[in-house]
Amino acid sequence: MRDFSANHETLSINTATVRKQWPLNRIIDECARRDIRAISPWRDQVTAVGIDRIARQLRETGIRLSGFCRGGFFPAADAAGLRAALEDNRKAIDEARQLDSPCLVLVVGSLPGALNGAPAYVDISRARAEVRDGIAATLEYAREIGMPLAIEPLHPMQAADRACINTLEQALDLCDELDPERTGMLGVAADLYHVWWDPKLEAQLMRAGADRLLAYHVCDWLTPTRDLLNDRGMMGDGVIELKKCRHWAEAAGYSGFAEVEIFSDYWWTKPGEEVLDTCIARHKTVV
Ligand code: ZN
Repeated sequence: MRDFSANHETLSINTATVRKQWPLNRIIDECARRDIRAISPWRDQVTAVGIDRIARQLRETGIRLSGFCRGGFFPAADAAGLRAALEDNRKAIDEARQLDSPCLVLVVGSLPGALNGAPAYVDISRARAEVRDGIAATLEYAREIGMPLAIEPLHPMQAADRACINTLEQALDLCDELDPERTGMLGVAADLYHVWWDPKLEAQLMRAGADRLLAYHVCDWLTPTRDLLNDRGMMGDGVIELKKCRHWAEAAGYSGFAEVEIFSDYWWTKPGEEVLDTCIARHKTVV
């Protein structure tokens, strides 16, 4: 297993972690100041500043992407909605390309409208079929552009509204179906917040291997968890066996960044400087 204690060259910051504190251009500057080598930005943060400006700033600072958030949300109530989702995913692929991302992360969606408390239907099998078809169609364009797609399984507590793919096994089954030749264009993003509890975690990481393990996200699981979305913990403050999980991922061949992704009403109230400095310290000691 790689030694993270000496420096933080393997650290990436998912920019949602400090999205309440700073706009993306400031986040990039603060990361550059701390010699953080990679980020994973969100589309809305990029759009707010302007993608040309962000692309230039990344080139100037030498900061790379560990991923781009996000595509997905394929299911829809009708044919027009399904088409609109595919169109939006093609746009996301283009943006990922412009920012030279190694992959586009997919949060696949589930019951359409459920995020707003008004699901258009309640058939999760239908949602899964629409996700499968959506990824298959998007993969064709992704291959043309050369932008790998990383399916991120979400914790089952988000199965109704954000993602009907909830385990690595389920995501990898889809990879096997849609990309049986293992071309490297379809894989998974293993976010420990979502998959740490899975009794099959080690086996599925091994199954993924280097060619399908496209991203690795870390934070911690707090007890008790007070909010389904925005109560993620700083690494070391919860119950996830971070080093054991990283050992498994690296044994499976993963050699990329450990991307810190913390949605937290607590950490969003802290000065951004303190959040980034804490991420660096914990990356070296507990990740
Ligand atoms: Zn994630």
